[in-house]
Amino acid sequence: MTITRRARHILVAGLAALLLPTSAHAEERQLVLRNVTVIDPAATTADGARLEGRTIVIAGSRIEAILPPESPVPADAHIVDAAGKFAVPAFWDMHAHVPGDPVRARAALHMQFANGVLHMRDMGTDLSLAEIKQLMAATARRDAPLARIIATPWHIADGRDERRTPTGGDAARFQIENKREANGLVDFVHRQGINFLKPYDSMSAESFRALAKAARKQGIAVSGHIPRQITVSEAIALGQVAIEHAQSLTWACAPIPDTVRRDYYLADPRRRFERNLAYPAFAAFTADTVDRYDETACRALLKTMAERQVRYVPTLVTRRFDVLAAFREYRDDPLLAYIDADTRKDWARDAANYAALDTATRVALYRFLLHAMALTVEAHRAGVPILVGSDSPDSYIFPGFSYHLEMEMLAEAGLPPLAILKAATLEAARFAKDEADYGTIAPNRVADILLLDADPLADISNTRRIDAVIAAGKYWDRAALDALLADARATAASAGSDRE
Ligand SMILES: [Zn+2]
Repeated sequence: MTITRRARHILVAGLAALLLPTSAHAEERQLVLRNVTVIDPAATTADGARLEGRTIVIAGSRIEAILPPESPVPADAHIVDAAGKFAVPAFWDMHAHVPGDPVRARAALHMQFANGVLHMRDMGTDLSLAEIKQLMAATARRDAPLARIIATPWHIADGRDERRTPTGGDAARFQIENKREANGLVDFVHRQGINFLKPYDSMSAESFRALAKAARKQGIAVSGHIPRQITVSEAIALGQVAIEHAQSLTWACAPIPDTVRRDYYLADPRRRFERNLAYPAFAAFTADTVDRYDETACRALLKTMAERQVRYVPTLVTRRFDVLAAFREYRDDPLLAYIDADTRKDWARDAANYAALDTATRVALYRFLLHAMALTVEAHRAGVPILVGSDSPDSYIFPGFSYHLEMEMLAEAGLPPLAILKAATLEAARFAKDEADYGTIAPNRVADILLLDADPLADISNTRRIDAVIAAGKYWDRAALDALLADARATAASAGSDRE
């Protein structure tokens, strides 16, 4: 806990003032982007995806028209000459966490915004239920430079010591043990207006089955980790809508020996991480997952995922951390200027654990990453919709910035840039059932557009070269985005110094 409860409430009270827009143009006039190359993520070929010389006419928060080259434009509009620029729909981070205090939360949402991530799916936060709901409402207004939080989960945590009853205050973490408790939890979550349930590793099979059934009845999505006692196939059959993290898929594509299931999967969850590091079988287990890859079983699983449109969010950057944490250059990332001192300390401790691993384990982790990258391509080829998620602010995963790294890793794995852009935009909007408003640059859609200085279809890294962000029709130029980033650095420099 970096900040006292009382201080947090004062900060929340001040949040509304902090959320006021700082420098966006409040457009009365139409906003017109001239001579721009519009990228269409729904296209089937890269050549077909580039619509050159277009004029985008924006009225209020929406796109009014996409005009062909040489079209006349309204004389009294705010006209931006976008010759040489590329317009892509804004990005969605489909696996990220809202940091657990309001000041750091705001800085992270600014960092995402300045990096073109205008929508994020919160996968669990330490903010109270009241705080996260207030923040979600604020970001939904779209008048401030904050990524919109599209969903937040009710998080079912590991560890019996975290057990709570659903009516016990704002505690968002507890275990359920049986059908009655599962039904009670789903009813409670439904009344709270929470969008989805995030199961975690240590749930019993019985609890998970009861929970999935109750959630389906109430129309609440189940998405998160796969409990260790449940196979991915069964989770899908029970209605799980997305598979998060590369581990879930790689483990599912190799049958797990009974000894490992007993010793690792069913181990006391509170000791799981220590066991990961100390457990002598861990390297063998990780390497085994690669060696025992069962292609036939994996193909069948991917086919089922494709048929049911179960999404896959590989968060490859987190497995990259496992491999690189031992290297000083990785741990000295200049982006640490955006991270407060307490978080930096936590990250360094995590990295030190990985740096202390023996060589065999580190080699196994590297093979595991390469295998996970290859399986992501298999999933894509099988027709499984991929979503882009960074898992920020997990260790050395920087809100907004690391999202671009995840896209680069997808490219290094072998996904074409067009497929990655589609995953980052249209697929995410579809998953959120928001594609009538978002995900493409087309008339009547919300005007959420990034203007890039170079072609992202030529090199996915060009998504980093953001010249301007148009968010719900408001134009944020490079200077305004840089000011947001400077503000986030200042927040990091001043925050987190009062830890006991
Ligand atoms: Zn996560």
